[in-house]
Amino acid sequence: MPSSSARELMDRYPEVFRLRNAGIGAFRGIECDDGWLPILDKMCADLSGLTEVPAVFQIKEKFAELRCYFSGVASDGAYVIVGEAVAEAAKTCEVCGAPGSAVNVQGVYKTVCEEHRLALEKRLSSRYNR
Ligand SMILES: [Zn+2]
Repeated sequence: MPSSSARELMDRYPEVFRLRNAGIGAFRGIECDDGWLPILDKMCADLSGLTEVPAVFQIKEKFAELRCYFSGVASDGAYVIVGEAVAEAAKTCEVCGAPGSAVNVQGVYKTVCEEHRLALEKRLSSRYNR
């Protein structure tokens, strides 16, 4: 379920997210945390500028990496733009947008800053200690 900030971002790029209201079940939209939204904002602006604007159906985090899925075939230009966003996300906290890096906390992979690494550790350890 996208956050309200994520929904606002999708509102700004109706062409990129044109499958949103197409009644297509596969459409998931932006499912990562809000710290990556500025990166996605730039990515969507760049995608909107392409001659053939690709249709995004899902943007999410998987094993600490940003993933962006298009419906159908996208141009090479689209993959270059997404690659830049993926590289930027790899050093940006997914929660708050501060500089971060990929961590593995008890088998959970996420790109976070030090503060949110500690918060993640605390949250995961409380699963077992209550
Ligand atoms: Zn953070």
